[in-house]
Amino acid sequence: MNGIPLVDLAWQHAEVDDEVRAGIDATFRDLDFVGGKAVAEFEREYADFLGSAHCIGVANGTDALELALRALDVGRGHDVVLPANTFIATAEAVVRAGARPVLADVDEDHLLLAPDAAAAALTPATRAVVAVHLYGQPAPVERIRAAVGPDVVVVEDAAQSQGARRFGQSAGTLGTVAGTSFYPGKNLGAYGDAGAVLTDDAEVARRVRLLANHGSDVRYRHELIGFNSRLDTIQAVVLLAKLRRLAQWNRLRSEAAVRYDALLADVPEVRRPRVLDGNDHVWHLYVVRVANRDDVLAHLHTEGIGAAVHYPVPVHLQPAFRDLGAGTGRHPVAERAAAEILSLPIHPGITPAEQERVVDALRKAVRA
Ligand SMILES: *Cc1c(COP(=O)(O)O)cnc(C)c1O
Repeated sequence: MNGIPLVDLAWQHAEVDDEVRAGIDATFRDLDFVGGKAVAEFEREYADFLGSAHCIGVANGTDALELALRALDVGRGHDVVLPANTFIATAEAVVRAGARPVLADVDEDHLLLAPDAAAAALTPATRAVVAVHLYGQPAPVERIRAAVGPDVVVVEDAAQSQGARRFGQSAGTLGTVAGTSFYPGKNLGAYGDAGAVLTDDAEVARRVRLLANHGSDVRYRHELIGFNSRLDTIQAVVLLAKLRRLAQWNRLRSEAAVRYDALLADVPEVRRPRVLDGNDHVWHLYVVRVANRDDVLAHLHTEGIGAAVHYPVPVHLQPAFRDLGAGTGRHPVAERAAAEILSLPIHPGITPAEQERVVDALRKAVRA
C-alpha cells in the first residue's frame, strides 16, 4: 500500500501545470527573470486577496520578516518579543535585523503567543512583538496589542496562514506589517524559495522595497544600504496560478480538518487541535497531542504515514540560541507541548479514505 505524505505537492502541481508552463514559457520568451510582469501582477493580486494596501515580493519568508523589522528601524539595542513555539526563522530574522529576541510562552489551548506572557516579557528596550499565526490560525493580535501597549509595534509572522482570517480580517493585515513565506509546502507555495511583506503603511512599504533591491529605486542611485532579496518572475508565475485556487484549497483543508475531528472523536488518547474564537483557520497543519509522542510517531512511520513534529525543540532550547540564557523550565507550556505535538498529514488533495487510514494507524499506535 502507498504511504500517505504529510503534504502532496504533486496533487497541487497537477492542478496548475498547464498555467505554470505557459507562464514560464512567456518568461523565457520575454527574458524578464527578475522584476518581470508577473511579479507586479502577483503583488497586486495578493494584496487585493488579503485586503492589504501593499505587497512587496521578496526572496523568502525569513528575509520578509527581517526586512519588515528593518523598515520599522527595529535593530541594534532593541528587544523583540516572540513566541517560544515557532519555526526558528522567526527568531533568526530578529537576530539578523540586529535586535535581541525575547521569548514568551504560548497558550495551552492553541499554542499561540499568550498576550499575558508577551506583556510579562516587555523590557524598556522592547520595540516590537512578532505574533506568529502558527499552524494556520491567527494569533489574537488585538489582545496582544492591548497587552503590550501602544509603543510596541505588532509584526505578524504570516508564513503559515495564507487566507486565514480573524474576525473577518486577513492574517497579514492585523498588525503594522507582516512577513510571509511561499516555501513550497506552505498553503500558498512557490517552486523554490519566495516570500512577501504586507503592510498598509506606504512608508514602510517603500522602505521594504528599497531594502530588498540594494537600497535603490532609481537604477544606480542607492538611498540605503540594502540587500538582494527579490521575488523571481518564475516564482511569481507559480504563485499567481496557485493564488487563484487558494480559497478553494483552504476550503478543502478545512473539510479535511472537520473529518479528522469526527474520526478522532472516539479516540480520547488523542487531544485534537482547537480553533480560537473569531478565527477562520486554514489548517496549514493539523496538530494533535499524544503521550509517548516519539513512539507514536515511529509507529505511524512504519505504517507509511508521513506524520511529523512542528516543532520538537522550542526556540529557547535550541543550541543556536543558548546565549539567550533561558534553560529548561522557562517556557513550560511550549516545552510540554513540544513533547506531545504530532502533525498529521493534511493537504487539499487528501481523501477521506486516506484520513481513515491515518486515524486507524494512530488509534493503534496510541493503544500499543
Ligand atoms: C516557513 C516559515 C518561515 C520562514 O520562511 P522561509 O521562506 O523558509 O524563509 C518563518 N516563520 C514561520 C512560522 C514559518 O513557518
